Amino acid sequence: MQNLIDKLGKFYIDGAWVDPVAGDSFPVLNPATEERVGDVAMGDARDVDRAVAAARAAFESFGRTPKAERIALIERIRAISRRRLPEMAAAITLDVGAPATFSHDVQADSAVGHAEGILRALEAQEEREALYNGDILVREPIGVCGLITPWNWPINQVALKVLPAIAAGCSCVLKGSEYTPLSTIIYAEIMEEAGVPAGVFNFVQGDGPTAGAALSRHPDVQMMSFTGSTRGGRAVTKDSADTIKRVTLELGGKSPNLVFADCGGMLDRLVVNAVAECNLNTGQSCDAPTRMLVERSVYPDVCEIARRAAEETRLDDPTKEGDHLGPLFSQLQYDRVQAMIETGIAEGATLLAGGPGKPEGRNAGYWVKPTVFADVTPGMTIYREEIFGPVLSISPFETEEEAIAMANDTEYGLAAYIQTGDRDRAERVAARLRAGAVHVNGAAVEYGTPFGGYKQSGNGREGGLMGLEDYQEVKSLHIGPFG
Ligand code: NAD
Repeated sequence: MQNLIDKLGKFYIDGAWVDPVAGDSFPVLNPATEERVGDVAMGDARDVDRAVAAARAAFESFGRTPKAERIALIERIRAISRRRLPEMAAAITLDVGAPATFSHDVQADSAVGHAEGILRALEAQEEREALYNGDILVREPIGVCGLITPWNWPINQVALKVLPAIAAGCSCVLKGSEYTPLSTIIYAEIMEEAGVPAGVFNFVQGDGPTAGAALSRHPDVQMMSFTGSTRGGRAVTKDSADTIKRVTLELGGKSPNLVFADCGGMLDRLVVNAVAECNLNTGQSCDAPTRMLVERSVYPDVCEIARRAAEETRLDDPTKEGDHLGPLFSQLQYDRVQAMIETGIAEGATLLAGGPGKPEGRNAGYWVKPTVFADVTPGMTIYREEIFGPVLSISPFETEEEAIAMANDTEYGLAAYIQTGDRDRAERVAARLRAGAVHVNGAAVEYGTPFGGYKQSGNGREGGLMGLEDYQEVKSLHIGPFG
């Protein structure tokens, strides 16, 4: 870990660890203890300029790298990611407080899983294709890409952008979240060790309005790929407009989970799983099923199962192995979640479990109680706004039609969840939900499947073939006779 902490003051530009031009820094705190880990350097437009210049120069040759070499490069990245899983997991745990087992098996593992997904897509894709009319279609890398990622799944989001960019033959400048610098540093080390050519992968630290905006506005950047809040996505879109960049966005969510009375004997298991899914990563996942909509006849039972599941959820030291939850990632997030819990109570929702304040005996660190509200109505703030903490809202519905209308009554459209014993109903309801992914009876996301949202949850898709295509331009070749 010390090797990563020692690099908090450096950026990786043009194949070397360099000192920033800007002189600002930002404290890095352990979310479980609030102890200071170090200070991360905060870059500004001058650092971004330097990284973009390196990326632009590198694109000249890397953009013409044969596919076989790009495949070999991603294979090396996959192998090194696999070897360094324990180190990535430790960095994630220190950055965001994710518990050790989850950090290793899920968060860090995504670096390997996404490499696999992109490799399969790259191998299968025809970069040159004859069209039915005799013309030829060629897929080419879009150019220099600006990549901006959030703190909540710090390796997952970085891998979902860097891998397809490199696979397509693009060069890139990554600005990770200022809150998760250690995860981004280890990913940069993996790029270095894999032999990614100098200037193809560049990485600066910094905040959104300074370094992030400089990247979005840069005239030599052809594409911005952003994951974060809807507010941040809006800013990146506006900043990219003057230079007509391609912008892909993965934004927030308030995903509904429709629980039908026909679950029968599966009800207990499905609801317990749904509470765990809502609280995964201490509730800090964009696609978390945070809005549970329950058919009236099983509403009292479901409320009781959810209350019990939340109360039985264990919190513990994130450096320990196990299936417990860790703290939230920062004081900022702790304050936001507390304010949402207070608002839920003030607006008249019924508090079933958890509530305001820190759990017993956890004074240092950003710990919150897994919380469940029932009788949440569509007018309430906690029904509509992303909370990003382990807070579940439960509301009743009478009919399937009403459930669909309630599920779609949101500005977001990232994911939706259905619990039912009836396959026909699952298909019928899924077809009407305005969301980029529908999970039925606990089925999870697989690597290589497109991930992204409808409505204000974003545009574009990450992962697999569609994730790769986002980083490509399409050229049509119209070739006439030569004699
Ligand atoms: P955020 O928008 O505050 O920050 C995300 C990143 O954007 C950070 O690197 C930040 O520095 C940068 N940024 C902020 N303002 C910017 C600006 N004006 N210009 C350029 N860059 C800017 O979000 P966050 O709090 O880090 O992350 C949580 C949010 O991310 C939640 O809303 C969550 O739902 C969303 N998210 C979405 C997905 C998805 O795939 N849809 C995945 C994870 C997280």
